Amino acid sequence: MSMPRTLRSVPDLVEAGLLPPEAVRSDIARVGERYAVALTPAVAAMIDREDPRDPIALQFVPDAAELLVRAEERIDPIGDLAHSPVEGIVHRYPDRVLLKAVHVCPVYCRFCFRREMVGPSGLGTLTPEQLDAAIAYIAARPDIWEVILTGGDPLVLSARRLRDIMERLAAIGHVKVVRFHTRVPVVEPDHIDSELVGALKASGKTTYVALHANHPRELTPQARAACARLVDAGIAMISQTVLLKGVNDDADVLAALMRAFVENRIRPYYLHHPDLAPGTSHFRLGLAEGKALVAQLRGRISGLCQPTYILDIPGGHGKVSVLSDAVRESDDGCFRIRDFRGGEHLYPSGSDAPATGSP
Ligand code: SF4
Repeated sequence: MSMPRTLRSVPDLVEAGLLPPEAVRSDIARVGERYAVALTPAVAAMIDREDPRDPIALQFVPDAAELLVRAEERIDPIGDLAHSPVEGIVHRYPDRVLLKAVHVCPVYCRFCFRREMVGPSGLGTLTPEQLDAAIAYIAARPDIWEVILTGGDPLVLSARRLRDIMERLAAIGHVKVVRFHTRVPVVEPDHIDSELVGALKASGKTTYVALHANHPRELTPQARAACARLVDAGIAMISQTVLLKGVNDDADVLAALMRAFVENRIRPYYLHHPDLAPGTSHFRLGLAEGKALVAQLRGRISGLCQPTYILDIPGGHGKVSVLSDAVRESDDGCFRIRDFRGGEHLYPSGSDAPATGSP
């Protein structure tokens, strides 16, 4: 019997029984050509094939709705490019930078905020010279206290390459914290082995791993064991979840997810309002709906389980807590949002702006 493999195309998904045969001649095939597709064996095994609205399938199996691009959607919704002084670095806040060493992921989320940058035809992996320049940028700026490895998913890199990056960060005295944003413990749990864990600790800095998971069913026994290997090694874990229509826009589902994080020694951190990425409006709630949902978590679950509901202000103006007074609904139905520098921005009330057609 052949080993299960990562499903990387619409025909692969048809063969695995996750799409009907006619999908290869439909708009879904166009979606598969436009945006990257990947489901690891661990993800495919989580999907309930009897459920046409399965919350795991919705996150990873392409949908014809992705061809619909709305007027408010943007190629670079959180404005990475506007804050990228050198290739691979995003420097939006004074004390921290993103280091995007790689733009591939083990899975491709249908709602991805960097969907125009990740995947086989995305921005690729930094060349050795680009990585040198990125590390030199960090080394030259004493205000940088934290380096956040994101991408793409940095844990797709080999343990050898991760160790190399961590050892280079170890040599920079002002960097105290290194954080990884990843889906790997859930979607490829066997990849979290002792070699990889050792590499993550190689800098001697404090290492955080921010786990991206959106539904409690993603925390399988294998995923829980992978997280335990990280935490037992002294790596702190925090969570990040994207609030998604049809996946987790339900107080019971969110409560179960946040509790599962805490039970696994993962501190709930961010609940992201979905970004204005092209072709993702079918996932997007209005801000008012999101606020009402998050309000239901108060009192229902322990304080340890409460995430911070945040919005990345479109255009690269940073994050804002949706429940704070920096986010105000105005009479015209839009939201007025104040960024951390005091600038004001308008945000649409919901996903009812006109569509502009295919990307
Ligand atoms: S893992 Fe993150 S970067 Fe990769 S496709 Fe999903 S949301 Fe995008």
